[in-house]
Amino acid sequence: MRAWVIRATGGLDRLESADVPDPEASLEARQVRIALRAAALNHLDLFVVRGLPHEYRYPHILGADGAGVVEAVGPDVSSVRPGDRVMINPGIADYSCAYCRAGEHSLCLNYGMLGEHRPGTLAQAIIVPAQNVAVIPELPKPLTWAEAAAFSLVTLTAWRMVVTRARVRPGETVLVWGIGGGVSLAALRIAKLQGAKVIGTSSSDAKLEHARKLGADITLNHRTQKVSQEVRALTNKRGADVVIENVGEATWDESLRSLGRGGRLVSCGATTGPKVGFDMRRLFWYQWSIMGSTMGNDAEYREIVRLLAAGELRPVVDRVFPFAEAPAAFERLERGEQLGKIVVSVDS
Ligand SMILES: [Zn+2]
Repeated sequence: MRAWVIRATGGLDRLESADVPDPEASLEARQVRIALRAAALNHLDLFVVRGLPHEYRYPHILGADGAGVVEAVGPDVSSVRPGDRVMINPGIADYSCAYCRAGEHSLCLNYGMLGEHRPGTLAQAIIVPAQNVAVIPELPKPLTWAEAAAFSLVTLTAWRMVVTRARVRPGETVLVWGIGGGVSLAALRIAKLQGAKVIGTSSSDAKLEHARKLGADITLNHRTQKVSQEVRALTNKRGADVVIENVGEATWDESLRSLGRGGRLVSCGATTGPKVGFDMRRLFWYQWSIMGSTMGNDAEYREIVRLLAAGELRPVVDRVFPFAEAPAAFERLERGEQLGKIVVSVDS
């Protein structure tokens, strides 16, 4: 089958379209084989290409997010059938460790991501555990393959950040950085669903205008405005109750300056660098909570799929690239030009 792979880490010039062996014909009891129709890109894919501190099995197939048609199921799978249109939760748990038994699958001791620890979705087919497969909900305006592929990773990540970790409540003020990115857009809409007032930032006025259409109450251009000053001014000097962070070094200080008393900061990423610092005295005096968050558990995934079926949380697709033009999709992601998800279509 055709796939986008790397055979060594480095720059985007490492991307290679290759013929790779088909995934195993014989499925394990709880596995599902899917003919992919679309794969969505995430920052994770850029990190994978640059190199992460674990071994890849080359040629390594890229891509975490995907959607397609079920081709075959193992003997113990009853949740989906061949022919079902499905999307994939890219976080794979072992369902046997203490964290899994407690229902916290993204804390799994053997947690792995498609396209990072395992073969990914930028291919014509993939085999995944049945627990990671959800039937695409039927909506009055049907979800496209691109939308279905764009849904899982960022919506699950944002849900856990906003709802499970930060426990955003009605009337609270939530600051969301970099509103063009998929996690930030999902966080904006989930925070609005929770009844919060959302302040979104971007360096692009066009993206900010779109964010207002998607429900952002206030938007700030973080290139031309001092975010913490604006947040203080907008909240009667109180500061934000919650800050949603996935930027890291470039925004960290401003995130903390924006955070009010009793505030919660949740981070799911560090796209500009991982090393940050803070003054412990401000941490305890203002009684901040600083939290990490990664992906989500199966109950959270079921909940976001339920909301999608109810007409909420439809993902924003920036652009769809033909399979042959995947490198252009990666370049667009690397330049940060997107508003929403960048998707690559797959011809099965
Ligand atoms: Zn586990």
